[in-house]
Amino acid sequence: MKSLWNDREAAQYQGDLAQRVYTSRLLGRDRSLVLHGGGNTSVKIQEKNLIGETEDILYVKGSGWDLSTIEAAGFSPVRMRHLLGLAKLASLSDPQMVNELKTQMTRASAPSPSVEAILHAILPYKYVDHTHADAVIAVTNTPNGLARVQEIYGDKVVIIPYVMPGFDLARFCAAKFPAEAGENTIGMLLMNHGMFSFGETAQESYERMIQLVSMAEDYLTKHGAGENPLPPAVKSENKSEKSIAKTLATLRHEVSEVAGFPMIMTQDKSDRVWAFVQRKDLGEISQQGPATPDHVIRTKQLPMVGTDVKAYAAAYQGYFSQYSATAKQPKTMLDPAPRVILDPELGMLTLGKTAKDAAIAADIYHHTMEVVAAATKLGGYQALPSQDIFDVEYWDLEQAKLRSGGKTPMFTGEVALVTGAASGIGKACVNSLWQRGAAVVGLDINPAIQELHKRPDFCGIPCDVTDEKAITEAIEKAVRAFGGIDILVLNAGIFPGGCPIDSLATEQWRKVMAINLDANLTLMRECHPFLKLAPKGGRVVAIGSKNVNAPGPGAAAYSASKAALNQLARVAALEWGRDNIRINSIHPNAVFDTGIWTEEVLKSRAESYGLTVSEYKTNNVLKVEVTSHDVAELAAEMCGALFAKTTGSHIPVDGGNDRVI
Ligand code: ZN
Repeated sequence: MKSLWNDREAAQYQGDLAQRVYTSRLLGRDRSLVLHGGGNTSVKIQEKNLIGETEDILYVKGSGWDLSTIEAAGFSPVRMRHLLGLAKLASLSDPQMVNELKTQMTRASAPSPSVEAILHAILPYKYVDHTHADAVIAVTNTPNGLARVQEIYGDKVVIIPYVMPGFDLARFCAAKFPAEAGENTIGMLLMNHGMFSFGETAQESYERMIQLVSMAEDYLTKHGAGENPLPPAVKSENKSEKSIAKTLATLRHEVSEVAGFPMIMTQDKSDRVWAFVQRKDLGEISQQGPATPDHVIRTKQLPMVGTDVKAYAAAYQGYFSQYSATAKQPKTMLDPAPRVILDPELGMLTLGKTAKDAAIAADIYHHTMEVVAAATKLGGYQALPSQDIFDVEYWDLEQAKLRSGGKTPMFTGEVALVTGAASGIGKACVNSLWQRGAAVVGLDINPAIQELHKRPDFCGIPCDVTDEKAITEAIEKAVRAFGGIDILVLNAGIFPGGCPIDSLATEQWRKVMAINLDANLTLMRECHPFLKLAPKGGRVVAIGSKNVNAPGPGAAAYSASKAALNQLARVAALEWGRDNIRINSIHPNAVFDTGIWTEEVLKSRAESYGLTVSEYKTNNVLKVEVTSHDVAELAAEMCGALFAKTTGSHIPVDGGNDRVI
């Protein structure tokens, strides 16, 4: 592991806190050191307060900040005097500790200090760095881990046996560290947890961390447990892609049922995962518990191996009743759904309430795999005893974190597929669905869809909807990305320039029908098995047109295609009710901020009504302009509770049209 310190870069960070920001980001750049809020840093600074007293302040990483992107505002200033006083108390509950940390801050708007703040305070050095480095964990999580770290570090670090994070750990270290630290001490190692380093400058503390972690890495390499080149990935899949997509969606349905809420499920078939799930000892090595307390919360106590969800849930219930019996305080069982599934045929599947949670679980389990693989080569992986894992999983602080976040958006854990998602109504639908918590798959013929949004809850797939093979491939991709399809928004469509019937070319007619009608039949048919598996019931919204009820001259192909789509939707409503799938149509009119309304089309349509363009835009009973956002909001609501008992309806969003009314 190399130090990323760079004198020129560092010079841009002037002052103690700025230096702290700089090296925190350096730590954050290496994912094998810190993951998703795991790991934290601090600096102690003397400051004069408003009434003229000089105070020692601990600037410690605030919760919700990632080290790789942290700024000065991400550090919480807490009074050292109070923190050191707390460390001397005989006991302090977690909620009390959180309260004390928060009420001793000198800036009210700062984030809540890390729950490891007291640990930082008791180490008598200006800068303190803390990581949960994979290499260190791989060594400690072995049967003779203690002897190994003693051999590696000698008197360079004070070794602390495993104590659950929180006040007890801080109190233990406060007594043990000063008693054991000597002149060669440059760090403190927490068994099954991670490493602390410290120094008088940010550079010294950071480089000591790199040195200490490198020593563990070198030890692993020396003992044949270093990073090995991967065996060639042989991904022979017996089943067809299509049947794998159905297997995935069925599995996600079962897990959501056990959880009691819809979950996003992401498939990972990377080479590293593949090599891991093909191991003959998979059942054994994956069932020994997470690597660090930090990994417990997001991935639960154990991954599920295979696809028997009911058996996993039953085992989880057994685990809960066994270990909750000896817990200090009564606990309420968390949902018994797995967060990580390992299967030799499906690879690794990770689950969460949101796409972000599922992605974090995947990231964390990648590190668990590294640790387990390395420790196994050292002679055996050994996690914490189950009771300790239970204590962390049901830790008051973590449970509070999991439960906070206020009201859950309506479509949390659900997956929507929108066609024509790169612009206009489709793009607006993506936004409206996101706002309600859904993960969205966007299809568009424009390849820009792939790069349109960079966020974990979006998957953009270039797709020509008139190509059946492209549609089935896109659906499979969608299911691999998020686990299913619960909501389908049929939006893609074209509106060619006006053309009277007597000169309407058959080719033109067929093109309009292929996109506006035929493609939607394919989409509905191919999505049906997935909609049927939607945990809260499937929903389809067809974006129709005012022309269904009030066709316009010169728009024969368009009007006919939308009328046929409307009829298709009504028949689907009749057929799919028994599958708990609702399908409703929206008939927008005069939505001009969409891809199909070029200046030319707009002008030609206005002329065919004998109006100016601006009159044409608000040519409705209410004299309002209808926007893509208006249509998207109605489309999203049609998939929600308000329309829970409505199917086969068609609702205008057109400002009132006298021919429709
Ligand atoms: Zn920690």
